[in-house]
Amino acid sequence: MFIINYIPENRNPFITINIDVIMAKLIFFGKPMAGKGTFSKLVSKETGIKHVSTGDLFRKEMADGTDLGNSIKDKMQKGELVSADVTVELLKNNLPESFILDGFPRTLSQAEKFKDLSDIDLVVEIDVSDETIIKRTLGRMICRKCGAIFGIEIKPKQEGVCDKCAGELYHREDDTEETIKDRLDCYNKQTKPLLDFYKDKLVKIDGNRTFEPILQDILRVLKEKSLYM
Ligand SMILES: [Zn+2]
Repeated sequence: MFIINYIPENRNPFITINIDVIMAKLIFFGKPMAGKGTFSKLVSKETGIKHVSTGDLFRKEMADGTDLGNSIKDKMQKGELVSADVTVELLKNNLPESFILDGFPRTLSQAEKFKDLSDIDLVVEIDVSDETIIKRTLGRMICRKCGAIFGIEIKPKQEGVCDKCAGELYHREDDTEETIKDRLDCYNKQTKPLLDFYKDKLVKIDGNRTFEPILQDILRVLKEKSLYM
């Protein structure tokens, strides 16, 4: 934790303002559909620590039409993964001093490359059973109009109708037991070894619950580690 005593330039000499700045470098980790993105956003909103999603960075770069964006687009159209070098390059230009990283690193080689760019204070694993992941996938409903997501944890008030815009809810064709099992296999092979890589920084949170207790547990851990006040 760093505490900075900040005195503004046009200060009243009788008033000193203390601004406490906490630096937190966090990775949110977990299986596909574990809720990394959701909790990154919720914790970011609560703490002010910036949420950095590599997926969002890719989309922004593509929309801006930069050279890097064009090469990412090319890869994605071919169905290939964006290389660790490209992703780290992108993060180099976009990583704030305090961050919650979601969706990266996913492989050991990505983690090793990322290590040269930044250190990490804490890796929060949102631990969810395969059974819950499969149930969530099969129960996921998306609004055709606004993209809002509903599911077994957040049910719409009226079946098949979006709470936010009254649009029609649909089930994605590729949200099947088969595809989620493939994604879980891929996670076990490529991403799970990272738990060992980060074992000294790792905190496991039981993700088989509703949002509120999970969020409170994450915030409690951040406070215990002096990463949030
Ligand atoms: Zn909607």
